[in-house]
Parts: sequence; structure tokens; C-alpha cells
Amino acid sequence: MNIRSKIPLVDLKTQYRTISKEIDGAIKKVVGKTDFIMGEEIFAFESEFSKFLNVKHAIGVSSGTDAIHLALKALDIGLGDEVILPSHTFTATAEPIVWLKAVPVFAEIDEKTYTLDPKKCQKLITRKTKAIIPVHLYGQPADLDGILSLAKKYNLKILEDAAQAHGAAYKNKAVGNFGDITAFSFYPGKNLGAYGDAGIVVTNNSKLAERVRFLRNHGRTEKYIHRIVGYGSRLDTLQAAILSAKLPHLREWNSQRRQHAALYDKLLSAIKNVVIPYEADAVKSMYHLYVIRTPQRDKLREFLTGKGIETGIHYPVPLHLQPAYSFLRYKKGDLPVTEKIVDEILSLPMYPEITTQQIKYICRCIKDFYS
Ligand SMILES: *Cc1c(COP(=O)(O)O)cnc(C)c1O
Repeated sequence: MNIRSKIPLVDLKTQYRTISKEIDGAIKKVVGKTDFIMGEEIFAFESEFSKFLNVKHAIGVSSGTDAIHLALKALDIGLGDEVILPSHTFTATAEPIVWLKAVPVFAEIDEKTYTLDPKKCQKLITRKTKAIIPVHLYGQPADLDGILSLAKKYNLKILEDAAQAHGAAYKNKAVGNFGDITAFSFYPGKNLGAYGDAGIVVTNNSKLAERVRFLRNHGRTEKYIHRIVGYGSRLDTLQAAILSAKLPHLREWNSQRRQHAALYDKLLSAIKNVVIPYEADAVKSMYHLYVIRTPQRDKLREFLTGKGIETGIHYPVPLHLQPAYSFLRYKKGDLPVTEKIVDEILSLPMYPEITTQQIKYICRCIKDFYS
């Protein structure tokens, strides 16, 4: 490999090359049947994915955002209900709350794990609070014990946002088994990615599963009979076929991500100004992203760009300070840990196919920057 060629943050092309036969075959099969809507591949994939997580029900939907939307709707979240979520997440965690006329309540994260801090959620709970959304950000499970005990004490529902955490585990159990209901995304760059938009809702609760099944497909019981007002939020048959072709590789891809993270950890831990990701004993992160922290973030980023290394910031502006949520009247200083962290985080290239040589080169450049 030519080290001077650019190292991207994510590389989907290299992966496609390794599985092109399986993917092309899967696409051809669906196209040959022209079974594009609610084809049998959807039910096959739902069953495979629920086995992968060891959950009872999985319902394919059109995106991770729609998974969150239908999950909240199934939980009966509506007008005026308050839903607690971290401010440090992608906007799609909060958007569906607003669509349902409920109120997002932005909470603080833990400074080490970057996930929701249950200790700081307690004071946000009011009579209107209905649910909490822990986000397993970067592939790292949130503090589920802490969140579960809050939920129990105040009778709140839990929706896990596992969009970045396919296969990540908390106390040896896959995320998706802790909340009342869980949303996954198959956005192309996620640990399990479709070739377009796709998502899935999983739950161990049969009632919630049935509700989501109606909601995703126009509330339909049979053709042209609609029991409830639903949505057009189905998983596409082509995407389901592609996901079924990719799922058998996921364990291996996740384990490669963990090996890459371990190498990054080893090579970066000696650098004084760099904080490497923290992984609590109880969790097994699947490193959707490998995120370091440093006060010299912007200068380091520029330096790495000059060396042909693409980096990212996930996410530069927390939701409580985004223009879209200004109607909620948060201001700078409301969530100090979050605000400090977003100025220091930097996502380094991470994907299963990245090579040891590339990681060594990236770490050498980082070392050079600081010396
Ligand atoms: C990707 C993502 C989503 C949204 O998923 P889409 O499939 O892009 O709609 C939601 N939450 C988080 C944390 C995400 O990373």
C-alpha cells in the first residue's frame, strides 16, 4: 500500500471489493423477482438480526431516524411529554421527539465515556418525563445500570439509540436487550451499513413490536385495510438482501475494529496531550468511531490533513446549542462537560479494512505533531 495515498475516515469501497460477489448476487436476486416492497428478504433479515442480538423481535424500517420515530410512537410519546437525551449526539436522536410534539430535555454526558450521565439526569426528571434515550455513542454502551435504575425509580421508558453500536455489549449482553425498545441505523458508514438508508427497531416486548409493525406500513392489516394511521417507513427489500449478505461478516468486522482500537491505544497512550477512549470494565465497545481528545484539536486536525489523513468531529455543536433547537432556550454554559468535550474531540480513521501500517503512520504523525 502507498502510505502517501490519502487515508479516509471511513472506506466503504475496499469493503465492497471483498464481498462484491455476495452483494451483487443478493441485488440480482431481488431485481429478478421485482419484489421491491415487503419482500421475503425483509423477514429473513429481521430474523437473522434478532438472532444476532438475541432479542425476540426485529422490525425493519427505512432509516435509523425512522426507527427512533416509530419506537417513540410505539411507546406512546406525544404532546407535552418530556424525553431526556444527551445533547452530545446526532440530531436524529432528538428530531422525532419534536415531530411527536414532545419536548427534548438535553442532559449532560460523563467526561470519560461521552455517554449520558445518569447522576445528572435525576434533577431533570419532572412529572412530565416519560422516557430516557441513552445513546451508545461511538459504539460504546452507555451506563445502562444507572439509567435502568433511574427508569425503575421514576417509571420511565427507555429507548436505546444503538445506531452506532451493532454488537456492542454491556455485561456480556448485546445492547438492544436493556431498554423497552431499541433503534439501530444501517446508514452506509455504520458498523453494519446498507447501500442506502435503512434501520431497524428491536424489542423483547411483543406489544411494542406489533405496534411498530403496523406503524411502519401504513397501519395496514391487509391490502387497503388500515387499522391505524401509520407511516410509509418500510425497510426496502434490496437493502434487506444487502444487509443479509453483510451480517455474517459483522462479528469479524467488529473484532477487527477492536484490534485497530487496541493498536491506536497502545501507540497513542504515551502522548501526554492525547486522551485515548475509555472503555469501562462492564462494556465492550465496537468502535464505530475512534475518538481522541486533545486541547490542540484544531491544529492537530489541520496537521493531519496536510499528511493525507482525514479526520472528523462527532459532533462539533451539541444539540442544546444548535439553531434547530433554539426554541428550547438553552444557552452556552448549560452543559459544561459537553461544551468542553466538543471542542477537544477528534475522530481518527476507523474501519475494519484499515491496515496496521496505516494506523502506525497516523500515530507517528500525531507523535510528530507534539514533539
Ligand atoms: C446515524 C445515527 C442516527 C440516524 O440514523 P439514520 O439511519 O442516518 O437515519 C441516529 N442516532 C445516532 C446516534 C446516529 O449515529
